[in-house]
Amino acid sequence: MSSGVVNGGISYWYADDGLPAVREPLSGDASADVAIVGGGYTGLWTAYYLKKAAPFLRITVLEQRFCGYGASGRNGGWLYNGIAGRDRYAKLHGRDAAVRLQRAMNETVTEVIRVTGAESIDADVHRGGVLEVARTPAQLARLKAFHAQELAYGEQDRELYGARETAQRIRVAGAVGSTWTPHGARVHPVKLVKGLAAAVEALGVVVHESTPVTEIRAGHAVTPYGTVRAPYVLRCTEGFTASLKGQRRTWLPMNSSMIATEPLTDEQWAAVGWDGRETLGDMAHAYMYAQRTADGRIALGGRGVPYRFGSRTDHDGRTQEATVEALREILVGFFPALAGVRVAHAWSGVLGVPRDWCATVTLDRTTGLGWAGGYVGSGVATANLAGRTLCDLVQQDSGQAGRTPLTELPWVGHRVRRWEPEPLRWLGVQGMYATYRAADRRETENHSAGSSRLARVADRVAGRH
Ligand SMILES: Cc1cc2nc3c(=O)[nH]c(=O)nc-3n(C[C@H](O)[C@H](O)[C@H](O)COP(=O)(O)OP(=O)(O)OC[C@H]3O[C@@H](n4cnc5c(N)ncnc54)[C@H](O)[C@@H]3O)c2cc1C
Repeated sequence: MSSGVVNGGISYWYADDGLPAVREPLSGDASADVAIVGGGYTGLWTAYYLKKAAPFLRITVLEQRFCGYGASGRNGGWLYNGIAGRDRYAKLHGRDAAVRLQRAMNETVTEVIRVTGAESIDADVHRGGVLEVARTPAQLARLKAFHAQELAYGEQDRELYGARETAQRIRVAGAVGSTWTPHGARVHPVKLVKGLAAAVEALGVVVHESTPVTEIRAGHAVTPYGTVRAPYVLRCTEGFTASLKGQRRTWLPMNSSMIATEPLTDEQWAAVGWDGRETLGDMAHAYMYAQRTADGRIALGGRGVPYRFGSRTDHDGRTQEATVEALREILVGFFPALAGVRVAHAWSGVLGVPRDWCATVTLDRTTGLGWAGGYVGSGVATANLAGRTLCDLVQQDSGQAGRTPLTELPWVGHRVRRWEPEPLRWLGVQGMYATYRAADRRETENHSAGSSRLARVADRVAGRH
């Protein structure tokens, strides 16, 4: 069924917008005030805000392939206010601290949209909010609990819809309810990352591509072409972190895969609805996420094969045939009217998952080494907050500024133990996702309102709760 599908090629977004011309690699030893490793959203936002705050700083970005090669050029384009680890931060630092973090995330969605306007980045932004649907009694129970929890974190503008109101927005088969928040927008990931890289360069940041960093140590970013010496070296390598010397077990590279359909016809869109162009998700344990693209397709993602043995990553976004088929089944399950629609493109990418599933941003003041990431599946907006925070931390450490509301957020400076060695790492993640899928199947078959106990066990084993 998946014949004729373009598989890989980094992502559909590049097929749509074109691969970028690659910038010059590093050509010998160099020095900078700040060296940033990784040219995804995190590295680029950090460079952007630092250069805006202190135009005299010499900033160098080192990128192994090209800016946007990683998750930033492959994601689902949900620019939204979710952040991995908020509930744990509430436990560790108190509810008020977690509420501040959540508010900062809400504002981040607006901030990213503001900068796209200010820098004339046309990233197909559509602020339609985020709609998450429930399709079984157990999902509905989780949806209501989730909705109540988000209200308690101060999101008073969130709404809860029943089956009929949900169907007025989008006709998802079997949807029994949904929750909607205005704190979200659809974006074209590649247009955003390309625009950001160009904006950063225009500000005077030096960007070297095709330049893999093999080792980071205090004051040094080491590459095959030379070493960049800098008092601050910031690691922004997310799902690729395991390939750096000494970082193999820091963040687990988790796969996420996507498909994009061919453009739908007007009749097909009439059957689906979705005029609000909300980003769309569900409440399954192995959840899906989707967007209505600016060119009239559905781009839909889910977990697929979650993890490759030994923290290996995919080859330029190629994903497994079985995953393509599984995602197509989800698509048709949601929208039976699209049974005949062709999948045009499939791809995958990696997320960074820390052992406790908590995103973090840190600057070690004794070494000048910093890092940000571990966003799990919620990094499009979070990377912006991380970039602004790394900027403030560097400014603070170098005596250019004092503490700021961002440097006081509870995710700053968080540390967690590393993942287990193989084969435990592989067995654990495979087991967890097999369990989630079994839990989803059981909930669908039983029609029971309680979440499957299986999923709770998997959560505990994974270190999620
Ligand atoms: C398929 C998929 C769908 C997703 N959907 C969403 C979504 O809809 N919404 C959401 O919020 N989040 C989503 N995410 C997550 C989100 O895309 C990421 O969290 C975010 O892009 C992370 O940005 P980053 O800059 O930290 O990492 P990346 O974009 O991965 O950038 C890291 C960069 O570092 C470079 N690099 C790595 N190692 C080295 C090295 N040694 N030397 C030099 N350069 C190096 C890489 O080439 C890469 O360009 C998704 C992720 C995937 C994979």
